[in-house]
Amino acid sequence: MDCDVVVVGAGLAGLRCAGRLAEGGRSVVLVEAEDVVGGRQRTDEVDGFLLDRGFQVLNPAYPAVRRWVDVPALDLRSFGAGVLVRRTSGLVEVAHPLRHPSGAWATLRSGLITPRAVLALGRWVGPAVAAPRRVVHGPDRPRRDGLDRVGLRGPLRTEVLEPFLAGVLAEEGGETSDAFTRLLVRMFALGVPGVPARGIGALPEHLAERARRSGVEFRLGEPVVGVGGRPSGRTKPGTATKGSVELAGGARVSGRAVVVAVGPEAVSSLVDQPTPRTKGLQTWWFAADEPPTRSTMLAVDGRRSGPLLNTVVLTNTAPGLAPRGRHLVQVTCLLPGVHDDGGPRSAGGVAAREAEVRRQAGEVFDVDTCRWELVRRHDIRHALPEQLAPLRTTSPARVDDGVYVCGDHRDTASIQGALVSGNRVAEAVLADLAAT
Ligand SMILES: Cc1cc2nc3c(=O)[nH]c(=O)nc-3n(C[C@H](O)[C@H](O)[C@H](O)COP(=O)(O)OP(=O)(O)OC[C@H]3O[C@@H](n4cnc5c(N)ncnc54)[C@H](O)[C@@H]3O)c2cc1C
Repeated sequence: MDCDVVVVGAGLAGLRCAGRLAEGGRSVVLVEAEDVVGGRQRTDEVDGFLLDRGFQVLNPAYPAVRRWVDVPALDLRSFGAGVLVRRTSGLVEVAHPLRHPSGAWATLRSGLITPRAVLALGRWVGPAVAAPRRVVHGPDRPRRDGLDRVGLRGPLRTEVLEPFLAGVLAEEGGETSDAFTRLLVRMFALGVPGVPARGIGALPEHLAERARRSGVEFRLGEPVVGVGGRPSGRTKPGTATKGSVELAGGARVSGRAVVVAVGPEAVSSLVDQPTPRTKGLQTWWFAADEPPTRSTMLAVDGRRSGPLLNTVVLTNTAPGLAPRGRHLVQVTCLLPGVHDDGGPRSAGGVAAREAEVRRQAGEVFDVDTCRWELVRRHDIRHALPEQLAPLRTTSPARVDDGVYVCGDHRDTASIQGALVSGNRVAEAVLADLAAT
C-alpha cells in the first residue's frame, strides 16, 4: 500500500480534496497527467506575456474561496465594478450602484436603465441575494424563461445582461438553469471579480503549496489509465486492483480509496459514469502598443454584431501580465464544441474568424485594431460543464466500492463548485475510512 488515498487530477477539485484529506491525517498521493497543476486554470508565459488558458476571473465573494483560499496571497487585482456597453449611440458605462456610486449619473444617462427594468431585475436577483437557499431548493427553469417570468425586457436585458451572461455561462440560447444563473449574479453583486497579478494559475499553485505543506505527495506528468479494478478502454482488464490506479507506463499506485478528480471530458474513461455535456469558449489574446481604453471594466457589445462576447484590457487591471510598455487585450467568443447548441452565434459550428474578431473589438472601443498583434488564441472545447434546469448542486461522492468522483461537473460549473466538490468528497472519504 503506497498511501491511504490516491487522488487523480490536480485541478481545483483534486487539489482541495487532496489538501483536506492530508489535513485530516491521511497519506495522499496526487497523480496528474500534465507537468503542472491547475487543470483548466493555467497561466503560460508567451513572449513575455502571462496568458491564462482562456480568460477567467476569480470572485473573492465565493464562499469556498473565502474559506479555503488566502486571497491576499494571490495579489488579486480587481476589475472595475460594472460593464462598458457598446451601443449604436456610443460606448456607455453601467456601474455597480453601491461600489461605484460616482458612476450613477453615467449609468442613468446610458439609456439602458428604466425604473420598470430595474424593478424586474430586483424581482429576478433579489431572492437569490436575500435567501439563496430558497433559490437552490425552489422551482427552476431555463434562464430565458426566468427573465420572461419577472418581465425583464428591453435594453437592460438584451444589451447588458444577456451579452454579459453569454460570456459567463458560455451559452447564449438561455438554456442554463435560472437558479444557477441568479446565484452567480448574486456573487457579482456581493464581490468584485479580479485576476491575480501573475495570472489565474496563482490560485491552483497556492492550493498545491498548501497541500504539499500538509504532506500530499505529487506525481506530475503521469496519466492514469485505469482505476480501482475497472479497466478503462486502454488497460488490460483487471490490471488495476481495487483501491489502486494504473499509470500509462504500467506502474501502479495503491491506496485504500481512489478519488477521480478529472475534468468532465475524461471522467467516463476512468469510472463507469456518463460523460457530462460541456460548452466551449475561445479566447483571443492581443498585444497593443496603446490601450484602447483606460477603463478596468469588462466591455460587451450590446448590438451583438459579431462573435465577440466580451473584451477587456487586462493590463489596465494587472499591468504585470504584459512586458513593460505593452498592453494585453482579451476577446472571448463562444467555441462551438462537441455539444454545439446551435445558438445564434455558433454559426452552425464554425468558430470565429480573426478578421471578424478584430473588426468587432475595434468597433466596441472605437479604435483601429489592425496593429494589434495576435499573441495566442485558446480554443477550449470543454470549458464548462452544462448546468441545465432543474439545478443539481451535488452528486453522490462514492460511485463504487472505494472509488469517489469530484469536480465542477459533480457540483456546480465554477471555481466555487470545483472547490466545494473536492472538499465534500474528501469529507466523505475521511468518514468512510474512519468507519472501516
Ligand atoms: C475559459 C474558461 C473560463 C472560465 N471562467 C471561469 C470564471 O470566470 N469563474 C469561475 O468560477 N469558473 C470559470 N471557469 C471554470 C473553472 O475553471 C472550472 O470550474 C475549474 O477550474 C474546474 O476544476 P476541476 O478540478 O473540476 O477540473 P479540471 O480543472 O479540469 O481538472 C482536472 C485535472 O485532471 C487531470 N486529468 C485528466 N485526466 C487525467 C488522467 N487520466 N490522469 C491524471 N490526471 C488527469 C487534468 O490534467 C486536470 O489537471 C472557466 C473555465 C474555462 C476553461
